[in-house]
Amino acid sequence: MTEIILFGIDFSTSSVIKITMIQSPRGMKDVLPPESGKWERLERTASGIFSSFGYKLLVTPVVEKTELFVRSVGEATDVVSKEMYVFTDRGGESICLRPEGTAPVMRAYLNSPELKSRTMKAWYWGPMFRYERPQKGRYRQFYQFGVEAIGSNSPYIDAEIIYMLDHFYKNLGILDVRVELNSIGCELCRPPYKVQLVDYLKSKSSELCEDCKKRIETNPLRVLDCKSETCSSVIKNVPLMGDFLCSDCKSHNNAVLKVLDDCGVKYSENPMLVRGLDYYSKTVFEFVSEQLGGRQNALGGGGRYDSLSEQIGAEKIPSVGYAGGVERTLLFMNDEDKKACDVYIAMLDDDTLRACAPIVFEAKKLSLGEDINFIDDDFKVRDIKKHLSKADKLGARFAIIAGSQELDSGSLIIKDLMLKKEEKITMHKNDAKRSAEAVVRRLLEKKNS
Ligand SMILES: [Zn+2]
Ligand SMILES: [Zn+2]
Repeated sequence: MTEIILFGIDFSTSSVIKITMIQSPRGMKDVLPPESGKWERLERTASGIFSSFGYKLLVTPVVEKTELFVRSVGEATDVVSKEMYVFTDRGGESICLRPEGTAPVMRAYLNSPELKSRTMKAWYWGPMFRYERPQKGRYRQFYQFGVEAIGSNSPYIDAEIIYMLDHFYKNLGILDVRVELNSIGCELCRPPYKVQLVDYLKSKSSELCEDCKKRIETNPLRVLDCKSETCSSVIKNVPLMGDFLCSDCKSHNNAVLKVLDDCGVKYSENPMLVRGLDYYSKTVFEFVSEQLGGRQNALGGGGRYDSLSEQIGAEKIPSVGYAGGVERTLLFMNDEDKKACDVYIAMLDDDTLRACAPIVFEAKKLSLGEDINFIDDDFKVRDIKKHLSKADKLGARFAIIAGSQELDSGSLIIKDLMLKKEEKITMHKNDAKRSAEAVVRRLLEKKNS
């Protein structure tokens, strides 16, 4: 008898083991329809808008060498020290599942002489991994999209990214979106500010929360965005970076604000907005929506990261980017047009099904890119009552109905389930394509009327 042992499980004896249903790993979930329809819309909108602004898709591996994040995000951060999925591969190398997307894009840029010869604009989308305690809306495998512009210090690129994202979110139906921004200075003007900040925080340390007491030493800027009640009175009087900006940082910031003003982008300056990582400089920003209210209102964050490349081991390359949470964004997206043109197929007998199947196939082909969705098509013959109750349960807008009567008279019925109206469409004998064209054309007319 051959031994079948894989991953320590002896499959040769599995017949005596009680088989239990396998669940997805903790904190990881399947994305199922109809929610996946919103995912598709988000991806389509991102791809369309970002690439029209010159930001092209860039795909990096889901695993990277662990060192990449140790150097970029930093060993002392929770992300690297506690939350990364790290393992040794069969070759003995330490690799990890990526916890974020910016460092991999920078690595890809630095590895490519072709990209390095100019300013690169890119967008990405994909799963990231953090071993955190799963909570509502927080997953161990979560999705992010991001845009990065590497190789330019122009304030117009900061403004372009903000303008583009504002357009992107509004396009997804998040109409109250607003950007908050701040400048956190550079390696010249931030250190003197930090000294002042630390002095102030030390003098008030007894009034700070436990986390912030530690932050005075490890990451004093993070005290500014502490959400704890305890710290609010200390934070109110904290020295602000804005009063310490050098002339270069000041003129960069003014240029960004001027363009946003001229473009009519709604923003608010938030002097408390910071980034935890040292490689950020100058512009930092967050997109927020009030729709969910409370503190959980951020859609994503970004900023200029002029010294990330140095931390990875290259020369200084000025860059700016943004990352948004996909699951987060989906919560804010309206699903107004979700069911706008869901079409249900109702065939009443086998002969009709045989005659109409090619028309249905053709119609599906023709509706590509037309916002017509054929839903739950199991090609089962049912009586009209059962079909309509199923279509109703699925929330379909239209049903295409045919039975022996329609087959004999050479027609199909399109029923508008919302307006409770129906009409006949002529079928062209032995010309499925022509029949399908007529059906799709009529569906589009009805949908848009
Ligand atoms: Zn500066
Ligand atoms: Zn605090």
